[in-house]
Amino acid sequence: MKTNTLPKVILVGAGPGDPELLTLKAVKALRQATVALVDDLVHPGVLKYLKRSARVVHVGKRGGCVSTPQAFIHKLMVAEARRGERVVRIKGGDPFVFGRGGEECDALREAGIVVEVISGLTAGLAGPSSIGVPVTDRRHTRGVVLVTGHSGEDGGEPDWAALARCGLTLVIYMGVTRVRAIADALMAGGLQGDTPAAVIAAAHTPEQRQTVCDLRSLEATLRREGLASPAILVIGDVVRVAPMWLTDGVDTQPAALGLG
Ligand code: SAH
Repeated sequence: MKTNTLPKVILVGAGPGDPELLTLKAVKALRQATVALVDDLVHPGVLKYLKRSARVVHVGKRGGCVSTPQAFIHKLMVAEARRGERVVRIKGGDPFVFGRGGEECDALREAGIVVEVISGLTAGLAGPSSIGVPVTDRRHTRGVVLVTGHSGEDGGEPDWAALARCGLTLVIYMGVTRVRAIADALMAGGLQGDTPAAVIAAAHTPEQRQTVCDLRSLEATLRREGLASPAILVIGDVVRVAPMWLTDGVDTQPAALGLG
C-alpha cells in the first residue's frame, strides 16, 4: 500500500491482558494499521481491533523461548514503514516499561522513520491494583520502584541491598524464576523476612492467579501454588491493604510463614 505520508511506526501499549484495558488511542491506531508486529505477551483479544486485511506478524520475545532477534524486528519495521504500510508495533503493557521500546525507537529514528508511542497500562501497576494493592499508599510508603528481576546479558543485577533499604514498594517484573536469589539478596540487605509480599500471575487474563505471603516464604509459596511467569512480585507493607491479606494471607496461614 503506497501513501504519500512520511514512513511511520506506532508503538502501541496493549496493556496487561484484558482488551478492555486498551486506550481509545490504541484502538484507533489498531483500526488504521495495515501491518502489526505483535509481542507474545499481547492478549489475542487485542488483535480483534485490527482490520481483517491487516497482516499480523508474531515476534515473540519470551525469555528462554525461541524468539525473533531484536535486529530482525527493527529491520522488518523499517522495511514495512518504507513500503508505505501503516505499521503498529504492539507490545504488552506499556511500550517503555521493560519492553525494549527505547531500543526500537532508536533504531527507527536512525532509519529516518517517524515514531509515535501510545502508552499502555503496565502490568506492574495494573496487576497489584487488580488485587487491591495500592502501590504508593501513603500510610505505608513514599513511593514505588519498578525493577527487573532478570539478570542482564552482562549478568548485572539491580542493587538489591540498596533496594532493601529504600523503604519503597518493590514491584518486580520477570522475577519468578529468580525469586529465591532475589528474596535472599533483599533479606541479606536488611529487609525483614516478614515483609508482606504478593504475586500476581497473568493479571487481567482469564488465567489470573494471585497469592499473598511474606518475603521469607515467597519462593515456597510460589512453588506450592504453582504460580508461573508472566507474574509480578510486590514486596512491601502496601500488600497489607489487599483484602486477601487477612483472608488468605500470612495472618491466617501459619504454613505460609514456614511455621506450620
Ligand atoms: N511492557 C510490559 C512488561 C514487559 S516485561 C509492561 O509494561 O507490563 C515482561 C514481564 O512483565 C513479565 O515477565 C511479567 O513480570 C510482567 N507481565 C507482563 N504481563 C503480565 C501480566 N498480565 N500479569 C503479570 N505480569 C505480567
